[in-house]
Amino acid sequence: MSKRDYYDVLGLKKGASPEEIKKAYRQKAKELHPDRNADNPDAETKFKEANEAYEVLKDNDKRAAYDRYGHAAFEGGMGGGGPRPGAGGFGAQGDFASAFSDVFDDLFGDFMGGGRGGRSRAARGSDLRYNLRVTLEEAYNGLGKTITVPTSVQCGSCKGSGSEGGAEPTTCPTCSGMGKVRATQGFFTVERTCPTCSGLGQIIKNPCTTCGGNGRVQKERALSVNIPPGVETGTRIRLAGEGEAGMRGGPPGDLYIFVEVTRHEIFERDGVNLQCRVPVSMTAAALGGDIEVPTIDGGRSRVKIPAGSQSGRQMRLRGKGMPALRGGGHGDMFIELAVETPVNLTQKQKDLLREFEAMSEDNNPESKSFFKSVKSFWDAMKG
Ligand SMILES: [Zn+2]
Ligand SMILES: [Zn+2]
Repeated sequence: MSKRDYYDVLGLKKGASPEEIKKAYRQKAKELHPDRNADNPDAETKFKEANEAYEVLKDNDKRAAYDRYGHAAFEGGMGGGGPRPGAGGFGAQGDFASAFSDVFDDLFGDFMGGGRGGRSRAARGSDLRYNLRVTLEEAYNGLGKTITVPTSVQCGSCKGSGSEGGAEPTTCPTCSGMGKVRATQGFFTVERTCPTCSGLGQIIKNPCTTCGGNGRVQKERALSVNIPPGVETGTRIRLAGEGEAGMRGGPPGDLYIFVEVTRHEIFERDGVNLQCRVPVSMTAAALGGDIEVPTIDGGRSRVKIPAGSQSGRQMRLRGKGMPALRGGGHGDMFIELAVETPVNLTQKQKDLLREFEAMSEDNNPESKSFFKSVKSFWDAMKG
């Protein structure tokens, strides 16, 4: 399979400026980010392709080599995009190499950034993502929940060192501890991650038999989490240090809980406010009266329907909405009346309604004014 031209991948011309390259990459990465393309498997491939192109084009030396020799300049695994130590987990965050943190720190805050980049010897564990669905009632009250997270934890046998019997790791002989090796490509010298130590700079003579030298093992972990009242779909809760364990004693990543609030049968949410459509009978709407409506806390509220209420009339119940996530009281609940036309009439009811109709005069001002407008519209058409 032939590789696509890096400029084409980012939609650029060959002479593009560094700013144009950065801008184009940013655009592509935003568009193709796996978090936004959960059901588009193609996006991940394209995302990686864009990353790879950017890794090369943002670097003057690599770009010059590419401009001169094309993809041949990097044959042999060069050009970024390779797997990072510590990648993996179920958050898909692992593989986007360093190009990512570069441009994304400002977009995603500390979500993608923290601790990435650089060649620390003990690699930080990956961040993990956990999707949690809650009901609207749970979002109202807040809840404590125990979740099971598949993750890797520090290996107990070697205490995370990766070394059998706890012996100290030794400096990697291939890269002398740099984590990178240099190779000459044409006129240029390019660096790549050391294949012997995967960039860690150290190797282990006798790898721990339990973890194979990684210093961590796969495990399911039960975590109890507190979901505060007021969460909504899209709320992200960060549990610092509860992500994947680091490699060889490195710091752990974070766990992010992504909340999704399911639809409710009765209430529709709009930020901190709730909407509730309440059907009322034609007679109750005409005569007025009290109705009882449900509230999200499980209680009920009496609401006075003024005589002559029309369909669509809104009423507000102050403070009966959702709690604000960061404190500051509750939103309101809005009731919308839906006047229900009676069905399944008996003969007697029909007779009574006909009698009522015959007696009606100024009972339907809206219809009256509408048909008046219609009449003048027709008259105007006739000229
Ligand atoms: Zn171990
Ligand atoms: Zn090495």
